[in-house]
Amino acid sequence: MKPTKNSTLEVVSPKVQVNDDFIETDYEYQTSHVKRTASGQLQVHPQTTALKIRTARHVPKLGVMLVGWGGNNGSTLTAALEANRRQLKWRKRTGIQQANWFGSITQASTVFIGSDEVGGDVYVPMKELLPMVEPDNIVVDGWDISRLHLGDAMRRAEVLDVALQDQIYEQLSQLRPRPSIYDPDFIAANQSERADNVIRGTRQEQYEQIRRDIRDFKQRSGVESVIVLWTANTERFSEVQEGLNTTSKELLASLAANNSEVSPSTIFAMASIAEGCTYINGSPQNTFVPGLIQLAEEKKVFIAGDDFKSGQTKIKSVLVDFLVGAGIKPVSIASYNHLGNNDGKNLSAPQQFRSKEISKSNVVDDMVASNKILYGEDEHPDHVVVIKYVPYVGDSKRAMDEYTSEIMMGGHNTLVIHNTCEDSLLATPLILDLVILGELSARIQLRSAENESAPWITFKPVLSLLSYLCKAPLVPQGSQVVNSLFRQRAAIENILRGCIGLPPISHMTLEQRFD
Ligand code: NAD
Repeated sequence: MKPTKNSTLEVVSPKVQVNDDFIETDYEYQTSHVKRTASGQLQVHPQTTALKIRTARHVPKLGVMLVGWGGNNGSTLTAALEANRRQLKWRKRTGIQQANWFGSITQASTVFIGSDEVGGDVYVPMKELLPMVEPDNIVVDGWDISRLHLGDAMRRAEVLDVALQDQIYEQLSQLRPRPSIYDPDFIAANQSERADNVIRGTRQEQYEQIRRDIRDFKQRSGVESVIVLWTANTERFSEVQEGLNTTSKELLASLAANNSEVSPSTIFAMASIAEGCTYINGSPQNTFVPGLIQLAEEKKVFIAGDDFKSGQTKIKSVLVDFLVGAGIKPVSIASYNHLGNNDGKNLSAPQQFRSKEISKSNVVDDMVASNKILYGEDEHPDHVVVIKYVPYVGDSKRAMDEYTSEIMMGGHNTLVIHNTCEDSLLATPLILDLVILGELSARIQLRSAENESAPWITFKPVLSLLSYLCKAPLVPQGSQVVNSLFRQRAAIENILRGCIGLPPISHMTLEQRFD
């Protein structure tokens, strides 16, 4: 069985079948269930569940609607799609550069498949494991409160080399963002001069307009599936209150009553859910108030977020994992950022900074909680995050982190990291992965193999599989938040492998270690 038409991989197994519609596997899912006895012992019960997993083979033509299309990320994604589609090359001071998708796990990372006859590791591109949307076929549309067309938006962003910009300016200038919902109470006051492209009316009317926009895009472009993704400015947190937004009913009533605490991003998410479109939140604000999550659950539509995990936090979720896993105790983490793009300008306002601070602050919790030898109950490292707006550095964000850890016998180890992030060039490939993996998730189903009449089930509406790409992962109620980057990546790899009948990667390589 070849998972995709162009895959170099062929799975030879009686447990994998392919028909016109599905790749279907018989899969033994192994877990360890732990029980705590009255005396405090941990009893672990290995369990094996026989499952059938199937993946629909038809890859729909995907449309992506970006909220904040004219921003740095939105314009850079649009430019990168065009540049890669046309396989553009341009001259830099250092030579010829070719368009690529470096930084995207689906497009530029590989997955360990197994060992060959001489014990060599064999890898294939992640995108060859299952049929996935090709970036070249994605159609982009979206909204922005600023009316600049995408050519000028790309110039304003000052992210890409000019020699590349010049090759795509004309195509991008044909694209103009749809008017959007502007509420100066939610983003920083310093954004007001951008707001020349706005939808007037009540919140209910704005919501109806967004729904019409989604339908209009679908109809004009002929895409079969639409994902809506927020890459607009960070909003302040909205209040969560009984009677306002703690249930779907309350939220719908608050929208109808034009309640000023219903944020633009929540209106976008509501409209997206109502149109059956996956909604992804790339910023830190609490778009997903409890009533919104309930709405997604009722309508069985995917939501995922929050906040792209692109630079400093990505390093943190690797480094703290490494330290705690090595039995070393991080005791203080001090993180400074300065940046000069429009995101930085927006974050220079206290309420919007607060959203980012919250999003960045919980990222080490699961790793700290995993090691009771190092940390007592309720003990945490000191963790401080500072963000400053320094216009001159533009999109070239600087992140400086100091990690101090306790080592043996009261000694200390201090690591200092300076990270020049090129913010939008790190975030844009994440947007691509979010929509590609988000779309793929809608085609994966499983059921018990023991009961032929058991219904096929899908991922839960809160799509935690995308946690790898998110700073503050949203997970279904009752699930554990996982921040550790390697655990998050292993979840993606092993689920994709499971879909084609391959066991999880164990790295045991017994055949190489024993005689
Ligand atoms: P940006 O300021 O360049 O772009 C945001 C765009 O959103 C602007 O064009 C603005 O006009 C528009 N906008 C604001 N409110 C809007 C609304 N209600 N509807 C439609 N458009 C609206 O910012 P960016 O660098 O592209 O980042 C976008 C978001 O992604 C920010 O919230 C940022 O915090 C988040 N983020 C970025 C990164 C990264 O770039 N590395 C990482 C994590 C999160």
